[in-house]
Amino acid sequence: MNIHEYQAKALFEKFGVPVPKGAPAKTPAEIDAALAQLPEGPTMVKSQIHAGGRGKGTFTDGFKGGVKFCKTKADAKELAGKMLGNTLVTAQTGPTGRKVQTVYFTVASDIKKEYYLAILLDRATSRPVIVASTEGGVEIEKVAHETPEKITKVFVDPGYGLADFQVRELTSQLGLAGVEAKNAAKLIRALFKCFWETDAAMVEVNPLITTPTGEVLALDAKVSFDDNALFRHPEIVALRDLNEEDPKEIEASKFALSYIALDGNIACLVNGAGLAMSTMDIIKHFGGTPANFLDVGGGASKEQVGAAFKIILGDPNVKGILVNIFGGIMDCNVIAQGIVEAVKEVGLTLPLVVRLEGNNVAAGKATLAASGLSLVSGDTMSDAAQKIVKLVAA
Ligand code: ADP
Ligand code: MG
Repeated sequence: MNIHEYQAKALFEKFGVPVPKGAPAKTPAEIDAALAQLPEGPTMVKSQIHAGGRGKGTFTDGFKGGVKFCKTKADAKELAGKMLGNTLVTAQTGPTGRKVQTVYFTVASDIKKEYYLAILLDRATSRPVIVASTEGGVEIEKVAHETPEKITKVFVDPGYGLADFQVRELTSQLGLAGVEAKNAAKLIRALFKCFWETDAAMVEVNPLITTPTGEVLALDAKVSFDDNALFRHPEIVALRDLNEEDPKEIEASKFALSYIALDGNIACLVNGAGLAMSTMDIIKHFGGTPANFLDVGGGASKEQVGAAFKIILGDPNVKGILVNIFGGIMDCNVIAQGIVEAVKEVGLTLPLVVRLEGNNVAAGKATLAASGLSLVSGDTMSDAAQKIVKLVAA
């Protein structure tokens, strides 16, 4: 689950990570009250969407920049009016962009230098890793590609926690000394505590800055949480913004289906995440493009299969469906019954290829055959993938 910058900064403050003072506004009527909380002077107006690259983004009406510097609060008010309700396109939103439903005003800081700081889970070592770089305010992927030597990584032992020598290594690699190093060390410890105690999957501060007076501040904040741990953080769940999520993914989560919308035209309905991934791969391999990732889980019910069908058909790009089920725990006949009911209910007209294998497969195939539906059966995974690619191309 992702949250907005303004929410992440409120969380940072709770853990003692210094951020510039700020206030959000969700409607034009809230703008004055938000600005009243800030001192007169240079103010930033920041579009709140769940995507990065806002500063370099462009609104669909041609207005440039989702993050703007203003000399006065009056200017900030005017710019906020242009951003609210407007659609911002950035390198991370895709061409359709995201509608800005909240703007965030913050005091504009005097920047001496920009840095990069993030904490995430490293899968290879199963440990939190702190990533820092002297190259802040630019995409870390670009730094990793062009000047990887400018990135420092520190792996934290989850049993021992973040050690002082590790914090010193980070501040010294960032070239900080004196009061800057002291303040950065404090910030790094607070950020790690925030990451750890909220069960975050990632906290990213880009840029982290130093100011001419030796302050160290988080100017941007991107935080995402491990969905599996949300049950123990109701205060974080309350920050969820459904406006930022795909309605199909919200619907899928109600039925405990793992669904992720993609931009191809062949919908897939699969049991098991690994099989779902290889199904997408094999569609690609035979020249098609998957419209989604969908894992109905190891023991899906008829209702879940029905819901899954409706969700994938809610995507107007879908031109065909591939069902790929390997029945281990799953009873193939339950899937077959679910398919037949769902297809009849939604009046499916698109090509449908079904590959069933495993537990009770004979009964499943018999159910499909007896249904009278015009679906195509695939014998193997590759046979099924080739069939759906061909049908969709035709
Ligand atoms: P994004 O990464 O989505 O473009 P940022 O919050 O990083 O958004 O803002 C883009 C740039 O704007 C930053 O790299 C920084 O240079 C500048 N900026 C952002 N917030 C402030 C602030 N409070 N004071 C001064 N400059 C800021
Ligand atoms: Mg940024």
